[in-house]
Amino acid sequence: MRSTDVVIIGAGAAGLMCAMTAAARGRRVLLLDSSNKPGKKILMSGGGRCNFTNMYAEPANFSSRNPHFCKSALARYTPWDFIALVDRHGVPYHEKKLGQLFCDNRSKDILNLLLDECRQAGVELHVTTAVREIARADAGYVLDTDLGEVTASSVVIATGGLSIPTLGATGFGYEIARRFGHTVLPTRAGLVPFTTSGELKELCAELTGTSVAAVVSCGEESFRENILFTHRGLSGPAILQISSFWHPGDTVTIDLLPDHDVLEWLQGRQAARPDSELKTVLGEVFTKKMATLLADRWFTSRPMKRYTPAELRGIADTLGAWPVVPAGTEGYRTAEVTLGGVDTREVSSKTMESVKSPGLYFIGEVLDVTGHLGGFNFQWAWASGHAAAQVA
Ligand SMILES: Cc1cc2nc3c(=O)[nH]c(=O)nc-3n(C[C@H](O)[C@H](O)[C@H](O)COP(=O)(O)OP(=O)(O)OC[C@H]3O[C@@H](n4cnc5c(N)ncnc54)[C@H](O)[C@@H]3O)c2cc1C
Repeated sequence: MRSTDVVIIGAGAAGLMCAMTAAARGRRVLLLDSSNKPGKKILMSGGGRCNFTNMYAEPANFSSRNPHFCKSALARYTPWDFIALVDRHGVPYHEKKLGQLFCDNRSKDILNLLLDECRQAGVELHVTTAVREIARADAGYVLDTDLGEVTASSVVIATGGLSIPTLGATGFGYEIARRFGHTVLPTRAGLVPFTTSGELKELCAELTGTSVAAVVSCGEESFRENILFTHRGLSGPAILQISSFWHPGDTVTIDLLPDHDVLEWLQGRQAARPDSELKTVLGEVFTKKMATLLADRWFTSRPMKRYTPAELRGIADTLGAWPVVPAGTEGYRTAEVTLGGVDTREVSSKTMESVKSPGLYFIGEVLDVTGHLGGFNFQWAWASGHAAAQVA
């Protein structure tokens, strides 16, 4: 039987940060992952360039049943702490937009940095290693693993959420949480494209690849970013953002001309170019294909002078607040995150330790803390992993 101080289950973003930090503190750390490689999501992230943090990360960028929970960890390990680590390793990066920091080269730079830190600190990492059972023992826990039985005073669950099963996602963390008396809040896919049906699906399919700046709203939430038409429905950063706040049946409102007072603009065009067709006028602000499609399909395109004031108002209303009822989302297959998870009201916000079972910790996405798009989810993984490592 092996004995160690800390076993961390899951060598993703949170598990790697926790492992390197705990080991640097002098703890003997065993890091286990059932997948054949560590950090697969890091490699896939940010379109291959890992949006590893956001300079403006703050608690308001995270959703949780318990919105105060993330504050302490985020305050104690900030984006600047991670940036300092990235700088120490000489990894080149840039701000793409809105505080989002991406690698100049490839996501692998971030994974290598974490693995280097783990190696230097003496973390023992095993991939393709399953954990079958975790039970309480006298001085901590005993785990039944592919390495045999392991005892440890602390066990950290860093198994992530359910999104993208092909990258190693499993529901193991939730199972363990339930087994130790924790509440697991219902999970659903977040930061995920919408699917559409019927005429809307046809429209989206015809416009596949077209991207436009928009303000997308659902309930109280609103995001200004691009939307992208796809052959399945709608995607792009604004859609991914709002998907985390959408529930089946909700209407999503899309302002397709967020920089215009649309009615005033249309009235101005009607006065200045009365003989121009609507599709030509819309061609000033949309691609030709999109302008033609919307004008023909939605407003039976004709010369501007032939629209009555009420019709013009109708066009302005539709373009400024296009109501869309998605058929659904693409689900965990393509979702960047999982909403819901281990209820944070039963976990210490300072240490991530279970209040039900001392020595058991939950970090990263397995917890009911989900960031907006833009580097926030990794910042949560770093911050929560770092917090647990101070005591585990
Ligand atoms: C395609 C994609 C792109 C993304 N891009 C970004 C981005 O650019 N910026 C950003 O901030 N966020 C991004 N995210 C979200 C981000 O990747 C996650 O929020 C983050 O990785 C969560 O970290 P984690 O350590 O909690 O979980 P993960 O990184 O998912 O790690 C969990 C680990 O646990 C392992 N595991 C699972 N079950 C078991 C088990 N039973 N036994 C042992 N090991 C197990 C898995 O193999 C995995 O290695 C992206 C997500 C996806 C899917």
